Amino acid sequence: MLASKLSRNRFCTLLKRCKSTLVIVEHNNEKVTPITLNTVSAASKLGGEISCLVAGSQCAKVAEEVSKIKGVNKVLLADSDAFKGFLPEALAPLLIATQNQFKYSHILAGATAFGKNLIPRVAAKMDVSPISDIIGVESEDTFVRTIYAGNAVQTVKSNDDIKLVTVRGTAFPPAEETGGSAATDKAPVDGISNDLSKFISQELSKSDRPELTSAKTVISGGRGMKNGENFKMLYDLADKMNAAVGASRAAVDAGYVPNDLQVGQTGKIVAPELYIAVGISGAIQHLAGMKDSKVIVAINKDPEAPIFQVADYGLVADLFKVIPEMDGMLK
Ligand SMILES: Cc1cc2nc3c(=O)[nH]c(=O)nc-3n(C[C@H](O)[C@H](O)[C@H](O)COP(=O)(O)OP(=O)(O)OC[C@H]3O[C@@H](n4cnc5c(N)ncnc54)[C@H](O)[C@@H]3O)c2cc1C
Repeated sequence: MLASKLSRNRFCTLLKRCKSTLVIVEHNNEKVTPITLNTVSAASKLGGEISCLVAGSQCAKVAEEVSKIKGVNKVLLADSDAFKGFLPEALAPLLIATQNQFKYSHILAGATAFGKNLIPRVAAKMDVSPISDIIGVESEDTFVRTIYAGNAVQTVKSNDDIKLVTVRGTAFPPAEETGGSAATDKAPVDGISNDLSKFISQELSKSDRPELTSAKTVISGGRGMKNGENFKMLYDLADKMNAAVGASRAAVDAGYVPNDLQVGQTGKIVAPELYIAVGISGAIQHLAGMKDSKVIVAINKDPEAPIFQVADYGLVADLFKVIPEMDGMLK
């Protein structure tokens, strides 16, 4: 009995030693995307070693940047034309080959379009259940996430041997960008090809404003803006406040702004220091994307608008009167 207890303890110690996490780095072949820092921070809550996989084409610069992130023990670099466009059909076999070689206990990616594209595919191929969009880590097998458009919080325990997880960036602080000195190794790229899809080109919207999901201030407009031209008022205000501009789905669907501005359940999740909702009613699907903002300001002409229930400061007013006034004050 004692012998079996001892061997069990030794087994547990060995298991702890084996605990290691692979973070999939999101980047543009030039620079690490901020969500990676939040994902490393979530990985550090699991204990054990943290490795980061940088897959792309001509992305050695990114691996160097990742090696300096505090808490990262090892960087795996997969630099090949096969990973142009970061297509999941090419990245999934790479991830599986990497997992077969290094046997991680956890694989984490940001809950962004990139992570949501890749992790479920890999999970299906490994026959495990992915755990999506976590907002907390309770232990190595238990995670917290939201359901019903953020209206309920769920604690999930996974019995799978490998945990494949996507991480909500706004729920974890970013890891420090410096202080680490991880070694870089080559990932098992040999023989990885993609016959299923081909990257042709991409057109990315360019903006001098801060990125929506990492901006400290976000000004969002809704259907109350009436048309796309009126959004100029918000862009001007945003430029004066060094803010990003967001929108409700109604504004996106009406064609006022492109859909990469959408905040909400089916858009981006933001949690800035200051969120200003202009002409937005506050439907639960919109709140799901912004209600964790530190300070929420709502401008709406309808005093009964649900947005006022979550707002720290509410202004019942016509936006076409008050936005130019605010702009004038900032001048
Ligand atoms: C499955 C699903 C997913 C969804 N995902 C999202 C999502 O990700 N993000 C999202 O935003 N929505 C989402 N929606 C849609 C959501 O339910 C709402 O329809 C949408 O958020 C409404 O947008 P809105 O507040 O801009 O428009 P409305 O609800 O029409 O509100 C417009 C507001 O503007 C105010 N207003 C009008 N004129 C003025 C003025 N001159 N001055 C001041 N205020 C004025 C009005 O009082 C009103 O409150 C989703 C819906 C479904 C079913």
